[in-house]
Amino acid sequence: MAKDAKVAQNIRPLMEYRNDAWKCWKCGFCRMSNPDEQKTHKYSDNCPRGTRFRFDSFYGLGTQELVRALTCDPPELDINDPAVAERVREIVYTCTQCGGCQTNCNPTKHLEPANASIALRNWLVEQGLGPLDEHQPLVKSIINYDNPWMQPRAARAKWAKKKKTIKDASKEEVEVLYYPGCTASYDPVIQPVAGWVTEVLEKADVDFGILGKNEICCGSTVLRVGDKDNFRKIRAKNLESLNSTSAKTIVTACAGCFSTFSHEYKEDLNAEVKHIVEFVDELLQEGKLTFSKSLDLEVTYHDPCHVGLYCGTYDAPRNILKALPGVTVTEMQRIREWSWCCGAGGGCRTAYPEEIAGFAAEARLEEAFETGARTLVTCCPFCEQNLGENAKRTFERFGIQVRDIMDLVYEAL
Ligand code: SF4
Ligand code: SF4
Repeated sequence: MAKDAKVAQNIRPLMEYRNDAWKCWKCGFCRMSNPDEQKTHKYSDNCPRGTRFRFDSFYGLGTQELVRALTCDPPELDINDPAVAERVREIVYTCTQCGGCQTNCNPTKHLEPANASIALRNWLVEQGLGPLDEHQPLVKSIINYDNPWMQPRAARAKWAKKKKTIKDASKEEVEVLYYPGCTASYDPVIQPVAGWVTEVLEKADVDFGILGKNEICCGSTVLRVGDKDNFRKIRAKNLESLNSTSAKTIVTACAGCFSTFSHEYKEDLNAEVKHIVEFVDELLQEGKLTFSKSLDLEVTYHDPCHVGLYCGTYDAPRNILKALPGVTVTEMQRIREWSWCCGAGGGCRTAYPEEIAGFAAEARLEEAFETGARTLVTCCPFCEQNLGENAKRTFERFGIQVRDIMDLVYEAL
């Protein structure tokens, strides 16, 4: 089966998904993970929302039915009825926007249930019914502080204070701009990633710099909850600072920044965007980076939706893991285009921390546990936050440790 899901590209207004909605076969393929290669029925689910609630409304086919009912003339659902509006909001905002449904539907049925789900959010915001109350502080914080965590702008580059050698890309010529993003800049659990990345870039003699306190949020969070107007403002402001540098390449270790820059900024950016896994893979292949330590570690790899399904980057992280001395990789059943979402996406960790984010993470940790590996490696700060927190909660059962791939790369230098 061809897999060209095109998740989150060219999202159209909701009315333009109307005809698609009528063409839904109700075949239920959007509920399934890789039917061609399923090894066990246990891991045949691909939709966190549908699997959690086990009701058709919460799968991709439910998205199609919702679009049909809201866009037919006259609409079958009265969105002005508060009870209807509440139910629609619940269905739409429990979607992690992982794109799994679209992977299965699009190659044969040519529909875009995940994109339609994003269009539904955009439409709800236009109707004054989105985002959810739980999302409002994040949106306000990004607008007021340029980060979702209500942290002062001046604290953004605190992690780099000890690293006096890092260039200021807003003042000095650089070939590469390293963009850590909000989570690696402010979250103390994820912050070490910024240090590992810069150590690795230095070791490979890469001419790079950062924007420091002049860096602002990419706006991914605002975009994912459907607030397109505020995203446009953030994007315009961000483009000014990104395009003010001499960098030919922007490198980020954040899946959300990578996906947002790759899709929503690309046409107006002066530089090429790469996830750090792509950049490190290239450094290894060109012989510019070598390892000297063996790690003696058995790992399994989790594909973040915004690196995998959204951007098609599957081989680079696996090439890095293969190149790390002493590391063996045992794959889970649901990988690459068929990966199971960690549950944090689409604002679900904020709005549905247990029902969706905790549920999906626990299922993933169990799948990782069954590989025999006790280290789950990934390359997305949101996956690391969500899987990491739930790994601690379930440690007695699964004994899984969650690590960023750059942690391993740094350790093996
Ligand atoms: S959305 Fe696609 S895969 Fe799902 S039931 Fe409709 S046609 Fe089938
Ligand atoms: S995008 Fe993911 S969570 Fe949303 S309906 Fe599709 S498979 Fe389910």
